[in-house]
Amino acid sequence: MGLQLILRACKMPKRVQAGLVLSSVSQDRKIRISMETQRVAVIIEDDKDIRDLLHAVLQQSGFEVHASPTGSEGVEAVRTHNPAVVTLDLGLPDIDGFEVIRQLRLFSDAYIVMLTARAEELDTLMGLEAGADDYVTKPFRPRELRARISAMMRRPRKDGVAGAAEAAAPA
Ligand code: CA
Repeated sequence: MGLQLILRACKMPKRVQAGLVLSSVSQDRKIRISMETQRVAVIIEDDKDIRDLLHAVLQQSGFEVHASPTGSEGVEAVRTHNPAVVTLDLGLPDIDGFEVIRQLRLFSDAYIVMLTARAEELDTLMGLEAGADDYVTKPFRPRELRARISAMMRRPRKDGVAGAAEAAAPA
C-alpha cells in the first residue's frame, strides 16, 4: 500500500505532489497515517474458493490480508492483526457468524462486512443489528465488494477510533 501510494505520487504533476505534502502536515495528519497503516483485512470464510477470491480482491485493494477458515480462528486472527476490515461468512463450521460478531465486538471496532446467501435476507438484518456494518450477498461481484468496503471505511464511527477521529476533525 505505502509503496503503491509513493509510486502513484511520483507520476502525479508537481502541483498535486505539493498538495499531498501540504495535506500530510495538516491537522488530520495523524488520522490519515493511522488509517493507512491499519490497512489490514481479515477474511473469515470456510469455502476455499470464496476465501481465495476475497483474498485476491482485498489484496488488490491494498490490504494486508489474513484469511481464516473457521469462526474461532477468525476471532483470534482479528485479535492478533487488529484489522480495519473483516469479511465474515455467516455459515461457518464451528461457531456461526452472529457469534463471531458478538465475540469481535467485545474487543474490536473493525468494519465488518457480512457475506450472505440471498436466502438469508432475514439473517442479514439480524447481522446488522448484531453489529455488522454492511453486507454483500453471494455470489458477489469483486467490484461491488471493493466499492462497499471503501464506502464503509469513509463512514465515521459513532464511537471508537474512527468516531474519535471525527470528533477531532473540523466539521
Ligand atoms: Ca460458509
